[in-house]
Formats: sequence, structure tokens, C-alpha cells
Amino acid sequence: MAMDTGVATGFEVVIGLEVHAQLLTKSKMFCTCSTDYAYAAPNTHVCPICMGMPGVLPVINQQAVAYTLMTALALNCTIPEYSKFDRKNYSYPDLMKGYQISQYDVPLSKDGYLTIEYEGQAKRIGITRVHLEEDTARLLHFDGYSLIDINRSGTPLMEIVSEPDMRSPVEARLYMQKLREILVYLGVSSGRMEEGSLRCDANISVRPQGQQKLGVKTEIKNMNSFRSVERALAYEAGRQVALLRAGQSIQQETRGWVETKGITVSQRSKEYAHDYRYFPEPDLPPLIISRSWVEELRAQLPELPEARRIRYIDEYGLSAQDANVLTEDKALGDYFEQVVAASRTSDRKARAKAAANLVINDVVRLLKANSLPVEESPLPPAAAANLLDLLDKERITGRQAKDVLEEAFASGKMPEAIVEEKGIEPPISDQGALERIIEEVIRSNAKVVSDYHAGKTNALHNTYQKTG
Ligand SMILES: [Zn+2]
Repeated sequence: MAMDTGVATGFEVVIGLEVHAQLLTKSKMFCTCSTDYAYAAPNTHVCPICMGMPGVLPVINQQAVAYTLMTALALNCTIPEYSKFDRKNYSYPDLMKGYQISQYDVPLSKDGYLTIEYEGQAKRIGITRVHLEEDTARLLHFDGYSLIDINRSGTPLMEIVSEPDMRSPVEARLYMQKLREILVYLGVSSGRMEEGSLRCDANISVRPQGQQKLGVKTEIKNMNSFRSVERALAYEAGRQVALLRAGQSIQQETRGWVETKGITVSQRSKEYAHDYRYFPEPDLPPLIISRSWVEELRAQLPELPEARRIRYIDEYGLSAQDANVLTEDKALGDYFEQVVAASRTSDRKARAKAAANLVINDVVRLLKANSLPVEESPLPPAAAANLLDLLDKERITGRQAKDVLEEAFASGKMPEAIVEEKGIEPPISDQGALERIIEEVIRSNAKVVSDYHAGKTNALHNTYQKTG
């Protein structure tokens, strides 16, 4: 594994991730302010509660709790019957109250796992806990001064903490990708790292190969893409190994990833739990999670990416590679299924393969060329299905289908309408027409036929040469 780690031989890297996901609820965690502030003017989605005014009372958003429990179930966690919120005290200008309402010793869920696959090997990554808290306001720094936008303050934020089970930056990236897929399938998070609605902090340490005791860890922040997660961890692992080799020690600290320079830099010394003086939130009642509600939520869980991947392989006979492409992006998989559903065919399996080919090769190519997400495809699934129907009926050839597809994508018209409009002739395929042609050829070659029957088999060969 030493090659994968990006770390010098003789060392093992140990990584655990803390992932924060903003939940897709309509209102904030403890007030009725809308969370739909992405394009709003600063400080327009605020009220005394999310501005941290004294004397107000927070109220728990039930949907946020439901989303957190659904995520916990999808990650195979156990859900205790009793949970509560706590105050995490620290002072920073983006924290309106001087404390954050979070969860400390009894989170909503714990002890789950997520399975990643790397080079054909499945590996379980432990999930320590999934808990719920509130997001902070946003600071905008300018030359010599800063501005604050409180719209983000109080947005429901779910934290998913993994065990230190990852042994390479690649595994950390795969874990993030898998986790994001699950959150998007559940519909609890947009999964958009570039917008900051999904964020990742990583704890990383290195130790000599074979050593049991964990090395001193650092925490890396500011990674806003899967690629930067992998790059930042590879850089940091290398930095730590170099320090150890030089006989120096590693400081427990928080470091920031600087994307443009490809390095991590020291930000502050790492806080410990006792620095936060956690205590139970006195303004909120404890949460009693009934078993019947948990079962209700479990029954509502949608099909998850792994199950969908297996279904595409088993039910539709797709290759593992095609099934992967179609399930990595939920919207693309949804589109593919709509194409299959809209098809007029009795052979769904054969149609699914043709649909997968069309979607993965042609539709994706056209979408990329036009910089469009699949949700905004000018070619609706019904039109893609119609094209496959025309091919199936041999109304058009594969070559003609390419042109019709381009036209349908550009114009939004149904392929059969395009075929009619352009007066595209059907290729000769029907049995009757072919038989009539064959009979005609035989009739006009009566002598060759009688010679053949008389045993002159090279007569046929001569005819081929003559005609062909
Ligand atoms: Zn509010």
C-alpha cells in the first residue's frame, strides 16, 4: 500500500474525516427563517433567534432531525432512544451567540460504517457518529476590515465523523465521493462542495510501519473539492514524514490547505474538547426518538447508490462500468431509467443496454459540449426512447440515428417527427421486400440455377463474380 499513500516507504498514514453537510430543509435549525438565501442580499434571512439576541427561545426543526436519522440509517448507525443538544462555547466573530448549539456526548446516532471499493477490494470505514448542529454566519474579509452576512447563521448542519480507518489520501477521496452519493440520493444535501454546502475537515497522522501507537495528528481545513482532499492529504503526509525523518516533532494544530500553492499552512493550535466547555443546552428539551418513528423513516429510505448499481447489473445486464457511470450521478441514472420506462419494447433488458449506450456515449457527449446538466437536457427521456424505438423497428439505420439525435438535441423535436419532416426513407429490411428481390434475381439467372442443380457448383461462384 505504500505506493498509494504518497508517503515514503516505511510509514503508514492514518486519516479520519469530519464532513459537514448543510441540510436541505426549508427553514433554519431553530427559527423559521428560510434557508433559501444563496442569491439573497446579505442579512435578509435573519431574525432575533439566528442573530443570537438575548432572551429568545430556539425551536427544533423536526425535518432536520429526520434527515439526520435517515442519513444515520443509510450509514448503518445505531440510533439511541435518548439524545440532546449541547452548547459548544467559543468566541469567533461569525458565531452570533458566542456558542454553537451542537451535540456532545449523546449524538443522534453512532457506530455505523460505509463501504468503499478500491482496486476491486471492498473496505469498511467506520462511522463514529452522525450528529446535528447549526451553521455559523459568514465573514467576508476585505483590506483592513471584514463584513458579516448572517443569512447562513442557524442553517441546519449535519456532521458525519469517521473512524481513523483510512490509510491513504485515495481512500479518503473515495470515502468522500461515496458519502456524497448517499447524501444526494437521500435528498438531504445538495452535495455541492464548490458552494460550501458540503465541507470536509481531515485529521491525519503518520507512524512508522508496524507501530501501534498513533502519531500526533493535524487537522486540515479548506478543501473544497475531492481532488483537493486527496492533494492536501498527500502533501500533509509528506510534510509529517519529512519532519519525523529530520528528527523533529509534529505539532497538534489546525492547518489550512492553500489550493493555489498546493501546500498546508499552520492556522492555530488545535483545540481540545475541554476548551469548549460543553454543557447541555438549557433552552431545548432532550430528544426522545421513538422506535416507531425510526422504523417509519427506515421504510421511507430511497434506493441507495449501491443497491441501484447491483440492480442495473442483475436486472438490466449492464456491465459494472456502465452501472457505475449511471449511478455515480443520480440525475443521470434517473434519466436512464426514464428512457427505459418510456420505451415501447417487450425486451426491456436489451432496451436497457441500448439506452445505457445512448445515454453514456451520446447524450453525455452532447450535454458536455453544451455545458448542460442532465436535468436540463433539451432531449427529454421520451425523445431518447423514441429514437431507440425507431432503431429497433429498423425505421432508420444507426448512421441516420446519429444525425437525427443531433437534430433532436438542437431542436427539442421528437425523432419520429424529424424522420418524417426530412423524408428519411426506411432502409430495406422487411422480409417480404427482401424475398421479392431474391426471387427476381433467381428468375433472371435461370440458367445459372439449372446449372447449379445439375452439379456445376462453380456456376454460382461465377455469378457472384459477375454481379458482385
Ligand atoms: Zn432566524
